[in-house]
Amino acid sequence: MKDAWRKYLDGRIARYTSYPSALHFDGSVTGDDLAAKCREVDLYAPISLYAHIPFCRQLCWYCGCSMRVENYYSRALEYVDAMIAEIAMHAAALNGRGRPQSVHFGGGTPNYLRPEDVARILSAIEEQLGLTDSAHLSIELDPRILRAQDIENFASLGFDRFSLGVQDFDPDVQTAVNRIQGYDLVESCVSDIRMAGVADLSFDILYGLPRQSMTTFSDTLDKVIALDPDRVSVFGYAHLPSAFPRQRMIDEQSLPTPALRAEMAELADLRLIGAGYRRIGFDHYAKPGNALAGAAAAGRLKRNFQGFADDPSSTILGIGASAISFIDGLYAQNEKNVGAYVGRIDRGESPVVRGLQRTRREAVVAAAIGDLLCGIPTDVGEVLKIAAPAEALQLCAALDRFEAEGIITWQGDRIRLADDAFLLARTVAAALDPYAVAPARGMAYSI
Ligand code: SF4
Repeated sequence: MKDAWRKYLDGRIARYTSYPSALHFDGSVTGDDLAAKCREVDLYAPISLYAHIPFCRQLCWYCGCSMRVENYYSRALEYVDAMIAEIAMHAAALNGRGRPQSVHFGGGTPNYLRPEDVARILSAIEEQLGLTDSAHLSIELDPRILRAQDIENFASLGFDRFSLGVQDFDPDVQTAVNRIQGYDLVESCVSDIRMAGVADLSFDILYGLPRQSMTTFSDTLDKVIALDPDRVSVFGYAHLPSAFPRQRMIDEQSLPTPALRAEMAELADLRLIGAGYRRIGFDHYAKPGNALAGAAAAGRLKRNFQGFADDPSSTILGIGASAISFIDGLYAQNEKNVGAYVGRIDRGESPVVRGLQRTRREAVVAAAIGDLLCGIPTDVGEVLKIAAPAEALQLCAALDRFEAEGIITWQGDRIRLADDAFLLARTVAAALDPYAVAPARGMAYSI
């Protein structure tokens, strides 16, 4: 990384998987608001579905997800029943409108559920919401509890995109985060996934973990490249023990410095591009023939809750505890607590408890930040037009500085991130974000 850019490394910046972030949500949004938006969806509008499975077998100490360790499968069965009832609520509100184009199972650990229970959720979606044949089904998988038979079953249910949580292959790092999974285990999962005919396999890896060094991380990258996934997401670990008390188990003294984190991210970029991957957005990589790489090349990439997507839908319906729906500027988030979520559904109540209706200004900023993070030339003119004079001056000064430092270039009213400044994508996004400059509603970003 260029020396002039190092001063930006210490900042904690939102991931911008939504805008405004969920930290700005409040209790003013209800299930009635979501149902009203559903009634305005066009008849054939593409819809994406997100199904949240909050259960895990074991706690990884770095985890920032909405999850809980669950030892009783009967609780998962109750939860699946509640999800199916929620799908019926969405169907009643949509009343035949919309066509699901994709379903993503995230968590938690979706493969905590037995394939037959995942099948029950999919059948409900098919019967009630009319899943199209061409829809993509994707699922996040924990290799530690993934059996060859499960892989075959998920593939025969129609899942065509599998994502394995890999994180790091070094045994010492794995011990430091309480997630032990040997290379052989992941290798055998990959082999079974390929045998099942799945052509889109993605890995998640993490830099910035305790006890990671350039040597261990380089070795992890060697192993990732040898296993030849179609996509790789390279995330920086965000250590926020005040927000996630489980992270207090991590020894802060063994965390890499911001400078070392940046070197790791740059090493991953160099190695993955050297191995034939294309950079997608700022932290994803995909083989040239992969759908995400195609979407990025065609300027169709989108930023959403899952990171980056090639999905044409601008409507997302969430199912399950903590899941977030997004329709026409409305964010509606479900109750996070699993027991309370199931209780609301059992009483026939909507699980929506909070959210936000985006303002026109927030929509303009969201579009600009989305384009910037997706590598699309970003129309800053619109953001400046709608900003207060003092904020516009502040933004212009920040953009002048970024240009002088070689972080961005101008194309008319549009800015573009310099190719080697990918690590600063969120830093530039934060300059466009009035809440990052002056946090609103008493909230501040924490990541
Ligand atoms: S990282 Fe994944 S598997 Fe580990 S506790 Fe969090 S959600 Fe569960």
